[in-house]
Amino acid sequence: MRLDYHTHHERCGHAQGTMRDMIEAALAAGVTQLGLSDHSPLFFLEDDHPSPGMTMARSEFPRYVEEMLALRDEYAGRIDIRIGVESDYMPGWMERYRGIYAGYPLDYVIGSVHYFEGLHVFNRTRWEAADADPLRTFTLYIRLVQEAARCGVFDILGHLDAVKGLGVVPADPLTELWDETVRIIADADIAVEVNTSGARKPAREWFPSTDLLERLHRAGVRFTFGSDAHSPDQLLYDWEPVVDYLHAIGVRQLATFRNRRRELVPLVR
Ligand SMILES: [Zn+2]
Ligand SMILES: [Zn+2]
Repeated sequence: MRLDYHTHHERCGHAQGTMRDMIEAALAAGVTQLGLSDHSPLFFLEDDHPSPGMTMARSEFPRYVEEMLALRDEYAGRIDIRIGVESDYMPGWMERYRGIYAGYPLDYVIGSVHYFEGLHVFNRTRWEAADADPLRTFTLYIRLVQEAARCGVFDILGHLDAVKGLGVVPADPLTELWDETVRIIADADIAVEVNTSGARKPAREWFPSTDLLERLHRAGVRFTFGSDAHSPDQLLYDWEPVVDYLHAIGVRQLATFRNRRRELVPLVR
């Protein structure tokens, strides 16, 4: 069983290849279950296509879902394709998002904190500003992750500690705040992805870090795998080390999703 639940394609404006390219690469790599999860339109903004380099247009979303469904049927019997989306968590907008997603036959929704303090989480100008304050920024980000866990719109939390992505480390590890976050995630019964894109960024670490993965596992949180591939060659990135690591800390199952319901499968290479 090899699965990858976090993949993007050219529709978002900053990834390479079509969904078909991703599926063909998954077949070649022996992926049994492939989740398609492009970036959701920015439903919290007025315009149809406010940020072409970040996400598809709002008006494109129905075609995105239709194409996924057609590909799922076309490849049935060869690879198990799951219909997903990577959503933003945006305070004050989640009831709107919930309603929009309910209108589509999605298997799962990943919830990620991408935008806060007016900037994308991987925008380095945040750290270069004269008044940059990593402790304040990390605290704010983690609080938003807690809200995302509790909002009830998501099946999976995306790149949990992405705020560390550019390699900035706060003066305090915020251990208590993370412990509180682990409890909130466990209580919300939401899965967490092991997102290996962090290892391709300056942080050189998975999202979440192995330390957090261990604490989450001890709290009973379930995991899925996501390479966050932005091109077909990034599929299954670090799959083997992740499986080995999870196995070593006692994880024996991974979470998969169908019709917004969680199904556990054995964790094997
Ligand atoms: Zn992206
Ligand atoms: Zn993301």
